[in-house]
Amino acid sequence: MSAPVYTLAEGCPYADATTAQRFSDGSPIKGLMLLQDTQLIETLAHFSRERIPERVVHASAVGAWGEFEVTHDISHLTSAKFLTGIGKKSKTLSRISTVGPGAGSPNTVRDVRGWALKIFTEEGNQDFVFNDIPVFFIRDPIKFPSLNRSHKRHPATNVTDATMFWDFHSQNQEGIHALMLLFSDRGTPKSVRHVNAYSGHTYKMTKPDGSFHYVKFHFKSNQGNDTLTDAEATRLAGEDPDNHTADLYDAIESGNFPSWTLYIQAMTPQQAETYRWNVFDMTKVWPHSDVPLQPVGKLTFNKNPDNYFADIEQAAFSPSTMVPGLAPSADPILQARQFAYPDAARYRLGANYQQLPCNRALCPVYSPYQRDGASTINGNYGADPNYVRSALKAVAFRQPVADDSGKKHHDVWTMGCVADYASQVTDEDFVQARMFWEGVLGAQEGQKEVLVGNVAAHLGRAKPVVWEATFDMFSRIAPDLGKAVRNAVAGQGQKTQV
Ligand code: NDP
Repeated sequence: MSAPVYTLAEGCPYADATTAQRFSDGSPIKGLMLLQDTQLIETLAHFSRERIPERVVHASAVGAWGEFEVTHDISHLTSAKFLTGIGKKSKTLSRISTVGPGAGSPNTVRDVRGWALKIFTEEGNQDFVFNDIPVFFIRDPIKFPSLNRSHKRHPATNVTDATMFWDFHSQNQEGIHALMLLFSDRGTPKSVRHVNAYSGHTYKMTKPDGSFHYVKFHFKSNQGNDTLTDAEATRLAGEDPDNHTADLYDAIESGNFPSWTLYIQAMTPQQAETYRWNVFDMTKVWPHSDVPLQPVGKLTFNKNPDNYFADIEQAAFSPSTMVPGLAPSADPILQARQFAYPDAARYRLGANYQQLPCNRALCPVYSPYQRDGASTINGNYGADPNYVRSALKAVAFRQPVADDSGKKHHDVWTMGCVADYASQVTDEDFVQARMFWEGVLGAQEGQKEVLVGNVAAHLGRAKPVVWEATFDMFSRIAPDLGKAVRNAVAGQGQKTQV
């Protein structure tokens, strides 16, 4: 292929990209600059506009193209076509991120990892916007900005601030289960290839006859779940801050494609009604012994982005982007995210972000009542009516016929299950954190001590005014844990005994 001819952005061929025009007698270094030098003005003006608004959370990320393949039939649970038929394959785009730090921050910081997946299906895009821990810090969405600010920079010092962090969490203790997972070594993954991803939220899988199941999704790394110690993560943050980004890129480039197995947990609406845990509470898991994991499919990352900005920075994911056969549950955080994510994309990328190549559905799209706006590039539906019920052009709309009598019955239960629940903290909120402390960490040699050391290293940087409430919070899981954290903070640098 012949080399491209260099042109200005409007196509005009241009001889020299390296020299500004001057009004002179021919000397290349003397003479006044000219306002007519379109190249110079475009070069400077465009450079000032290279950055788009950074995501307020999940700014620092890595991403890849891939493929999802169905390995097990779950057509008895859902009509979603991308999940129907063993061997069915769909193209995907993924973006894995830290949450609190800004773009360009070290990859190995202790943080939750966001794990976003776009599956391009014949029925439109299916987005999953998951995390690498199965539970979340809050269950009332109005706390979301507060939670995130407490993990970011202090408004006066502009420094990340352990006092804010523990002040928020000791006063909003429904997050204790997520905190336990964050301060285990899972808070510092070895690489993004080694993290699992969880929906956390309960979704619905639906059938056209109106029946549905509640489901949770788990993508488990086929590389194994592997972690760094706090000390290793801290060292890498200084010595090799882009470590996770380079690791994923190099693995894919060398043909060592990372993959994940998708499992679901599913329960009937009737089972949900009598289940011990509120299925709309994102601070709780469904223990595996109660609701077993069922394999569904395999996700493989097989292609690096050709261009990070075009493919990954411009990618927009939203829990509201769903195909028929999947539906949101009444989880209040999931409901709120369905507004917040597209709204963030409209702010960052403009009203027509769905038309960008990385976000554009591969199936036919006909959405003529969403048109105009900055940078529309899809033809804007030509002369088609821009108002509903036009008699001038017959448009065939899909009219799903569903018997939803069962759903309506369940809506009554749903309302009761969600109302007035979110901000009350009770002893129940400490039960699963205790299962993790005793059953999971207790079964792994040395891991209780690791968690205590990780908490103490962070809490020790906070002002003592937030310590007592935090020790009390950990004591509600188990008195020995509260005591060990207290002792470890008091004796920073000494070996932790639990
Ligand atoms: P099990 O006793 O059946 O298994 C424990 C699970 O904990 C493992 O399957 C693994 O999840 C996860 N795990 C193991 N080591 C760690 C670690 N160091 N840090 C974080 N997670 C770890 O689990 P149950 O379902 O009975 O739940 C017990 C506790 O396990 C829960 O309270 C919760 O804290 C935690 N957990 C439960 C999950 C669930 O969805 N049920 C998922 C993840 C954690 P995985 O196989 O997904 O890596």
